Amino acid sequence: MNVLVTGGAGYIGSHAAQALHLAGHNVVVMDNLYRGHQQAVPMGVAFSQLDLNQTNDICELLSLHKIECVMHFAALAYVGESIEQPLTYYQVNVGGTLSLLQAMETAGVRRIVFSSSCTTYGQPKTIPLTENLPQKPISPYGWTKFIGEQLIRDYARAHDSFAYAFLRYFNVAGCAEDGSLGEDHRPETHLIPNLLFAAIGKESNNEMTIFGDDYNTPDGTCIRDYIHVEDLAQAHIAVMTALRDGDQRFYNLGIGKGYSVKQVLDAAKRICGVDIPCRIGSRRDGDAPQLYADASKIKEELDWNPRFTDINAIVQTAWKWFQSNPNGYGD
Ligand code: UDP
Repeated sequence: MNVLVTGGAGYIGSHAAQALHLAGHNVVVMDNLYRGHQQAVPMGVAFSQLDLNQTNDICELLSLHKIECVMHFAALAYVGESIEQPLTYYQVNVGGTLSLLQAMETAGVRRIVFSSSCTTYGQPKTIPLTENLPQKPISPYGWTKFIGEQLIRDYARAHDSFAYAFLRYFNVAGCAEDGSLGEDHRPETHLIPNLLFAAIGKESNNEMTIFGDDYNTPDGTCIRDYIHVEDLAQAHIAVMTALRDGDQRFYNLGIGKGYSVKQVLDAAKRICGVDIPCRIGSRRDGDAPQLYADASKIKEELDWNPRFTDINAIVQTAWKWFQSNPNGYGD
């Protein structure tokens, strides 16, 4: 298929663009390079530097490449930042999705795979999280993803043949197994990259803080579901391939089991062979004690199964990248 990948110079988008390209699809990456890296756009993939607010230009791009499906990754994605800058988050994540839909409407593109998040469930009362739990976001970021879903739902209701899929990610982790692509967030807030920076002894990251060890979990630290970025990319392809006119799909994307912060720390120590310096800090606002997916819906409906279910193997792929690229893409 001819596929537009918005945010394809970012962490998840670049891995998806590469997987699509390798699977034989014609891929066009669109990214404003605000947080993306041009070097992350895989070889052989067309690139256009556009912002989501450039509706007319996006429309032209869609028509030029005869795009049949849009994978919409481009977004701002820091919960803390969204609390400080809610208007920017609504502008980019909601306004950007609106602009993209307008461009798609004009260009006659009728399929979208939307990057949503388990944060749309807020602090769920039951785990593992199934897709039919009520969505009650607790951060502006979570709301922007929820509203993005709603926008697409409403649009689809008015256009019978329009098809969509919402993919609600859990904790996306790891890097391309062959070392070709990686993770380069600035600032970096995520657990695994920060552990690996501490292992390398990277300036300003040479001590790791565990955000609370007094949660009601077996070892007191928070439990999350870490899904490998290449498994996530394959799930996108499976979903896109399955989409038919008028389809309305939504899936949780995790591996279906959780690891605690201490378990991830132990894995990182094992993989790096370094005793990563760590201190116990206070809890981080808004962190739920346990979040992991019931991923059975996508497994049953699309026969998607993650290749990586062991945290050691996931951390290993990230370690390969961070060791070779301590300064990320170096731009
Ligand atoms: N975490 C931590 N120290 C860090 C970064 C994260 O203890 O420097 C914890 C965080 O509190 C959460 C888990 O690691 O329980 C995963 O956090 P991350 O920011 O990677 O993803 P999130 O779950 O917030 O999307």
